[in-house]
Amino acid sequence: MAKQKAVYAGSFDPPTHGHVDIVKRAARIFDEVVVVVAENIKKKCLFTIQERLDMVSDLFSKTQNVKVDSYSGLVVEYCKKHGVQTLIRGIRSITDYEYEASMSRLNRELNAQVDTAFFMAQKEYVHLKSDMVKEIAQFGGDLSHMLPDKVAKKLMQRLRSS
Ligand code: ADP
Repeated sequence: MAKQKAVYAGSFDPPTHGHVDIVKRAARIFDEVVVVVAENIKKKCLFTIQERLDMVSDLFSKTQNVKVDSYSGLVVEYCKKHGVQTLIRGIRSITDYEYEASMSRLNRELNAQVDTAFFMAQKEYVHLKSDMVKEIAQFGGDLSHMLPDKVAKKLMQRLRSS
């Protein structure tokens, strides 16, 4: 049987415990999970594409069936190019649900070969958002339950130098 590949795309600016949890859960189900760091020209990121790639790669360097890549186009095009049938998304709230439901319908219109699989956020991470984490960090809040240690250090360094 063909390998069941899934893509988990996002900006990961920075990657949080919430993202890590989704990747690990997906990696138990799919043969291969590719975390695709989006080079989103519309969204102003604190970290460069290379920095986000490095952080994400470091987090999953020991997880055999998780690969990391970057992409600047439509995620369904990435899937077509690499023979991926499933998109992974996380849902934290009704707001995420509404947005993700329309995105998944839109993506199916663009490429009917690709479907989206949703993972509900764990209760510890349900309020965790990269943007919110950056705000908390600016005010010196405790990041240990939100970010992996290395990511938290990088974020504090970046905020001190900016
Ligand atoms: P954010 O929405 O935090 O800026 P991304 O754009 O990187 O993050 O989101 C990529 C995907 O990860 C989206 O499907 C988003 O809903 C999901 N996600 C983000 N944070 C969490 C979390 N804490 N728990 C579960 N899913 C999450």
